[in-house]
Amino acid sequence: MKAINLLGSTGSIGTQTLDIVQQYPEQFRVVAMAAGRNIELVAKQVRQFKPEMVAIADPAQLPELKALLTDVDPQPQLRAGSEGVCEVAAYGDAEAVVTGIVGCAGLLPTLAAIEAGKDIALANKETLIAGGPVVLPLAQKHGVRITPADSEHSAIFQCIQGLSHAKDFVIGKPDVGLRRILLTASGGAFRDWPVEKLQDVTVADAITHPNWSMGKKITVDSATLMNKGLEVIEAHYLFGLDYDDIDIVIHPQSIIHSLIEMQDTSQLAQLGWPDMRLPLLYALSWPERLYTDWEQLDLVKAGNLTFREPDHDKYPCMDLAYAAGRAGGSMTAVLNAANEQAVALFLEEKIHYLDIPKVIEVVCDRHRDSNNATPSLDDILEADVWARQAVTEASQNLDKRTLITA
Ligand code: NDP
Repeated sequence: MKAINLLGSTGSIGTQTLDIVQQYPEQFRVVAMAAGRNIELVAKQVRQFKPEMVAIADPAQLPELKALLTDVDPQPQLRAGSEGVCEVAAYGDAEAVVTGIVGCAGLLPTLAAIEAGKDIALANKETLIAGGPVVLPLAQKHGVRITPADSEHSAIFQCIQGLSHAKDFVIGKPDVGLRRILLTASGGAFRDWPVEKLQDVTVADAITHPNWSMGKKITVDSATLMNKGLEVIEAHYLFGLDYDDIDIVIHPQSIIHSLIEMQDTSQLAQLGWPDMRLPLLYALSWPERLYTDWEQLDLVKAGNLTFREPDHDKYPCMDLAYAAGRAGGSMTAVLNAANEQAVALFLEEKIHYLDIPKVIEVVCDRHRDSNNATPSLDDILEADVWARQAVTEASQNLDKRTLITA
């Protein structure tokens, strides 16, 4: 029985993790959970999973949550705000923490979990993009294991199990047998749109993913391919390869979740239907594999598996991410925060879809001369705040374009 703390219980990752907990009551138990603002769902989850501690993002919602839970027995301890979420991350006898909070808001709770010696099932990629320079050394210091739950990194992690040095694998250190990583990308909502048509994109178009059901932010990131760019940086931090050895290939069917190439050019891939429960389950059960009754992959039913190069004109965010990754230091925190803010402004219909890469580029350019090669946590948090503000400023100086609404 593995006890887990769950961050982001009400989101796409969170609810799928709870689905796993429900299906495997002998294997997993939720000890503590944290969420943002959806307190009705939190209350429902508390009744079903009976966590000992619960935190929500906004202290102002605490009385309402208390009222929703008056008849619950036993009563969970309730917390709120960033400190409360960190308390949940570090709470009790949980062995592992699933990080399903979206964005850099996941960074401090992840660090709190690591300091408490909890293993990390890492879904929240922004934590590593922004905080890689502090997260990884801290994990090493506390002997904490990070198992990737992002489907691509899980695929790479699963393939690495087949290498001869797998048992010596350390996060951030490349296996000697590993030569190249190929991250597959669905191509997102606009993969079949001509570049010229992107000027017509609406928010409704961008939050509809062809293959995966995910939160809004990551769905927009998939459309711009920033998601894959962030995953390139995540792969660099997790598996230690240079950026020149991490490539992206568009694979519209999302059946092959990523591949590794070894020194002799042989490649290994991991395949499955696009179902996030699979990498989440493996992140929690590793090194064991649990039997599931989920639909088995049928290659005949899947039909054609196709691949193509990503179009750099259609996906400028991809090149921005590679450039930020190569710059390293605080630049990846700036890239991440700039992207979060730009996507938030797009979702609020304050900037156009095509303005997302423009404002990110302006802000990364502004940071170039002050990039800090070895940032501390304070430097990262400062860079994050600065970049969000800089995006808001940059968005006010854009050529005004007519916003297209749904
Ligand atoms: P969602 O938007 O669906 O869920 C985000 C979760 O974070 C919600 O539970 C939300 O709470 C919570 N949250 C937001 N802000 C705070 C905060 N300040 N404090 C506490 N909780 C907060 O996102 P996803 O589940 O799609 O993504 C989560 C992470 O996993 C992202 O980093 C994403 O990149 C990564 N990921 C997701 C995949 C997917 O399939 N969804 C695949 C691979 C990676 P509430 O809703 O109550 O406000």
